[in-house]
Amino acid sequence: MKIIVQKFGGSSLTTKERRVQAANKVIVAKREGYANVVVVSAIGRIGDPYATDTLINMAKEVNRDVIPRELDLLLNCGEIISAVVLCQVFTGLGYDATVLTGAQAGIITDRAFTEARILRVNPEKILKNLKENKIVIVAGFQGVTDEGDLTTLGRGGSDTTASALGVALNAEFVDIFTDVDGIKTADPRIVKNARTLEVITYNEICQLAHQGAKVLHPRAVEIAMQKNIPLRVRSTFEDSLGTLVTNYGDTYNTVEISSDRLLTGITHVPNITQLKIFTNKSENTKGLELKIFRAMALSNISIDFINVHPHQVIFTVKDDDALKAEKIIENIGLTAEVLPGCAKVSAVGANMAGVPGVMSKIVEALTEENIQILQTADSHTTIWCLVRKEDMEKAVIALHKKFNLS
Ligand code: ADP
Ligand code: MG
Repeated sequence: MKIIVQKFGGSSLTTKERRVQAANKVIVAKREGYANVVVVSAIGRIGDPYATDTLINMAKEVNRDVIPRELDLLLNCGEIISAVVLCQVFTGLGYDATVLTGAQAGIITDRAFTEARILRVNPEKILKNLKENKIVIVAGFQGVTDEGDLTTLGRGGSDTTASALGVALNAEFVDIFTDVDGIKTADPRIVKNARTLEVITYNEICQLAHQGAKVLHPRAVEIAMQKNIPLRVRSTFEDSLGTLVTNYGDTYNTVEISSDRLLTGITHVPNITQLKIFTNKSENTKGLELKIFRAMALSNISIDFINVHPHQVIFTVKDDDALKAEKIIENIGLTAEVLPGCAKVSAVGANMAGVPGVMSKIVEALTEENIQILQTADSHTTIWCLVRKEDMEKAVIALHKKFNLS
């Protein structure tokens, strides 16, 4: 049995017409001889009646603190509604289709409610239905603990569901259908002439996704990569093949040898706060750095852009965590210079390691646009620049242009 997993994002399912377009993608694959597993997200975005954010706001209306376990029960409803409504399209067209919740599909997670991790997949029920020639529609973004409590997988979690099912079922392809025609050299909402990449390696998209390219959840890539299951990011509304995510070696036969490009794309993450802490202003400076980082870890604050100097520690946190972080530093007896409203703009490319002149080109591009660089960091695949949020879009466009990515 050759299996294909096809995932449809919330924006692909908002209207009856769109759901028919989505269903057609499944039917085309069925005609090609595939056994079909369809994964769906909740319908629409914030404001739409059953979108995840709408459900969260509903719960928080009377009390902002929602018990995570109960919140997950509520959030499970969004994808279930979506799955049943899409099932109606198939049965209406005369196809045999069935809906499984994440739990029924055998997606077992840990107990980290609202951010659960998939521990394993028991695909028997899916396989039984596929053998009966049914289209199996699985509610994405959800799972169940060993104790039987329902969980959700965090934002973008339906991508992870699709990928995990792809691995468990040894699928030929996992197709991620969305509102753009593939993975692009930058977010098309910012860079209008961003180019769609024909092929990209797991590593490249992992970097892009971790650095803010929300088109694919990084966890989904990591899972698919373990078993080399090819992912494709495609448009629900167009007829192109989209972007193939695969291994470097597997791309040789294609037109574009992705490993030859210096830069893959430009990404951005807004809403970041920079904290500068002067450690020499304290009486006893010994071990202060350790104290700072330990305290952040204990409070579950994730930190980024870390620079430690003899008399100064600099790092960034999410704007949402800034107040908490500032308090923690005060409690240690230190003061922080706080700069909220920053953004991280990254140039990502698997081949920039050791190539001279990349950094100077970045600085040139930003300087030409009068954008102040607040901090930088680099790894063998990425150069990060911290800029003010109001400079973010300008910086993405400038870097995209400087490296001729369009
Ligand atoms: P879905 O609801 O289908 O999961 P998402 O909103 O999660 O859709 O992902 C698609 C969006 O990702 C696009 O509309 C696009 O604005 C955004 N995006 C960000 N970076 C990129 C990129 N490099 N390539 C393509 N899309 C991107
Ligand atoms: Mg998504």
